[in-house]
Amino acid sequence: MATHTTKMLIIGSGPAGLTAAIYGARAGMQPIVVQGLQPGGQLTITTDVENYPGFRDVIQGPWLMEEMQAQAEHVGTRMLWDTIVEVDIAGGSPFRARGDSGDEYVGDVLVIATGAQAKWLGVPGEEALGGKGVSACATCDGFFYRGKKVAVIGGGNTAVEEALYLTNHSDDVTLIHRRGELRAEKILQERLFAHPKITVLWDKRVDAFLGDPLAGGLTGLALTDTRTGETSEFACEGAFVAIGHAPSTDLFKGKLAMDENGYLLVEPGTPKTSIPGVFACGDVMDHTYRQAVTAAGTGCMAALDAERFLAEREFVKVKEAVAG
Ligand code: NDP
Repeated sequence: MATHTTKMLIIGSGPAGLTAAIYGARAGMQPIVVQGLQPGGQLTITTDVENYPGFRDVIQGPWLMEEMQAQAEHVGTRMLWDTIVEVDIAGGSPFRARGDSGDEYVGDVLVIATGAQAKWLGVPGEEALGGKGVSACATCDGFFYRGKKVAVIGGGNTAVEEALYLTNHSDDVTLIHRRGELRAEKILQERLFAHPKITVLWDKRVDAFLGDPLAGGLTGLALTDTRTGETSEFACEGAFVAIGHAPSTDLFKGKLAMDENGYLLVEPGTPKTSIPGVFACGDVMDHTYRQAVTAAGTGCMAALDAERFLAEREFVKVKEAVAG
């Protein structure tokens, strides 16, 4: 079991964590990035990216993250693979974190870039049929449903994008939404409604995922009409839950200020958390914009404020030494 010590400890390796690392490394903070269960973050489970500035042609999410990691390493970042299971931050800097491996990580500043994870409905059958017809990522698993009848549950951008993506694999895609209108952007809605392979089922709540995990997997969904209360069954072999995301902040419960949904609270307009020297960037503190480019932007802010925090601390030490 080893102890890894650095000026700048970063947890999370999506666009926020890696941008913090690029700026931190260039400022001489020799960052360590601990990448968790999903190295590269959510962009590694997406395909086409058309809105990251600087690329005229469509690029691939996993490729973009490989490039960001290569850039971070090139300027001096150490990437380590571990899952942080405990943090000790209450006493202030230096901050300590312990990994699943038993290794300890110590940083003069801590940058939290743990991102967010897909939410689940929490209804019967969902967990048991996970990977056997039920998924939260069409771009990861859509391929397995080639030629099959599939459903997407949700009404936001993610749900609409997943439904459109699934038409690459299936000719029969149904979007199931609990209300009578979508919250997805208009341009995506227009593409959805115009698509010949997609049907929309309005005002339907999914009460259960049906099927036998040991024999054939998902066979359908139990639905209730949210206006009339009428129940029905919808036959399908694949169902993709796309109802939003929850921040990965369990590690920090009771240790850092967070809102009622678990997003880390920061001083408005900054990445500063409730503990000086601990910074949060990306989806873990942003439930509004949640874009790769905004995550990268807040990662940059975290690194700049980390640098200032360390410089001020040095200044105070020097002043005390001179006075003492
Ligand atoms: P959203 O929070 O925008 O939408 C979640 C959807 O799931 C809503 O339609 C909501 O219904 C529905 N929902 C939530 N909980 C339940 C439940 N328990 N049962 C049934 N339905 C439920 O999440 P998204 O992941 O779609 O998007 C998150 C953010 O990321 C947004 O800001 C979005 O714009 C952005 N994004 C941008 C993309 C892009 O620019 N290309 C791509 C993907 C996401 P209701 O509407 O009734 O509340």
